[in-house]
Amino acid sequence: MSGNNLKESLTMFKRARKVIPGGVNSPVRAFKSVGMNPVYIQRGEGSKIFDIDGNEYIDYVCSWGPLILGHADDRILKKLAEYAQRGTSFGANTKIEIKLAELITETYSSIELVRMVNSGTEAAMSAVRLARGCSGRSKIIKFEGCYHGHGDSFLIKAGSGVLTLGIPGSPGVTEHTAQDTLVARFNDIESVEKLIGSNKSQIAAVIIEPVMGNAGVIPPDSEFLKNLRELTLTEDIILIFDEVITGFRVALGGAQELYGIDPDITCLGKIIGGGLPVGAFGGKRKYMEQLAPDGPVYQAGTLSGNPLAMAAGYETLSVLINDDVYPALEKKSKLLEDGLKENMKKLHLNYSINRVGSMMSLFFTGHDVHDFDSAVTSDTGLFSRYFHEMLANGVYLAPSQFETSFISVAHNNEDIEKTIEANYLSLKSLK
Ligand SMILES: *Cc1c(COP(=O)(O)O)cnc(C)c1O
Repeated sequence: MSGNNLKESLTMFKRARKVIPGGVNSPVRAFKSVGMNPVYIQRGEGSKIFDIDGNEYIDYVCSWGPLILGHADDRILKKLAEYAQRGTSFGANTKIEIKLAELITETYSSIELVRMVNSGTEAAMSAVRLARGCSGRSKIIKFEGCYHGHGDSFLIKAGSGVLTLGIPGSPGVTEHTAQDTLVARFNDIESVEKLIGSNKSQIAAVIIEPVMGNAGVIPPDSEFLKNLRELTLTEDIILIFDEVITGFRVALGGAQELYGIDPDITCLGKIIGGGLPVGAFGGKRKYMEQLAPDGPVYQAGTLSGNPLAMAAGYETLSVLINDDVYPALEKKSKLLEDGLKENMKKLHLNYSINRVGSMMSLFFTGHDVHDFDSAVTSDTGLFSRYFHEMLANGVYLAPSQFETSFISVAHNNEDIEKTIEANYLSLKSLK
């Protein structure tokens, strides 16, 4: 068990359970899969978070990815204060939403027009509606273990909390909706060809996380994404890259830049809101101009393009662009990966590590993890014990085997060294 005193956190969780379902506003936060009560956070600063019981942790959740600059970055806080003073929302147009859209379209050559929404879920839902509206087709293909938010069409063999809690689908999603979602295997182009072959001219879109980040980190094989792009072009199917995690994370231009792929529509979120609620979807003009008010496909939002989210996002992206943070992020992330591998060597362990840039996962399996099936060979009981030990050693990981660790610009070499030391002690105690 965790050696930390978490008394206040427990009191708070009991109080929360009386008024919030399961005590949480997003399922994985309940810490169920690691068999403990959740930690309540008081504040964050740089690479660290502090809980209400006074414990300090090096944070590798980073709000599930958005905080690539770390917690409470001065530049973001200043921008937020400046914008908040002018009023927090108008439901009308402001200049900052254009500035953010310009940064995105300048950075992503596949995105000619971009529409802001309030979450990654909304981005993915809207992208699929647009693809259906443009093509007049109903079905979509997704990949086993990929997560695209909690829209009805995506809760079929999904990753993230759905996978963590071992739920195959979800009650409340109608059979009719579920039938329109076909599920292929990641890194298996033949599985896609088969589905297309048996559903000729019925598939509106293929949606994919180009680097899987919601079953733990799973990189694409070298030819897989290229083949997927060619296949969808040949079959006249819209290719949607869900880069809600990978956008501005694995490279400034996301996975599409890293792997040299030109998708039709891209979903963004997380980092582009700088820690405020946001999402966006964008892509080729011929599709995007089908959206209302220019086109017939309806999509809207009271707080979409909200000036606070736009300001935090704009400031974050400006730093990422101007400071060219990616080489340093890569170096730190590699240091962490190498340290963990060295620890395992010393301890004669052969668990699998996947890393793409500053996204990393340690899978408690001896198998190479390249798809959903290999990911679930992981020993989640062992992960749970590891999680407790890491927490006791001052490292806050996502409370699930099937999530990603995120390294931020704020993590320094001392943090990385401490984490490697904590990893050694934690792995040793599991033996
Ligand atoms: C987080 C995530 C989403 C959902 O975003 P929310 O803001 O949580 O709705 C969608 N797709 C991917 C790939 C994600 O990681």
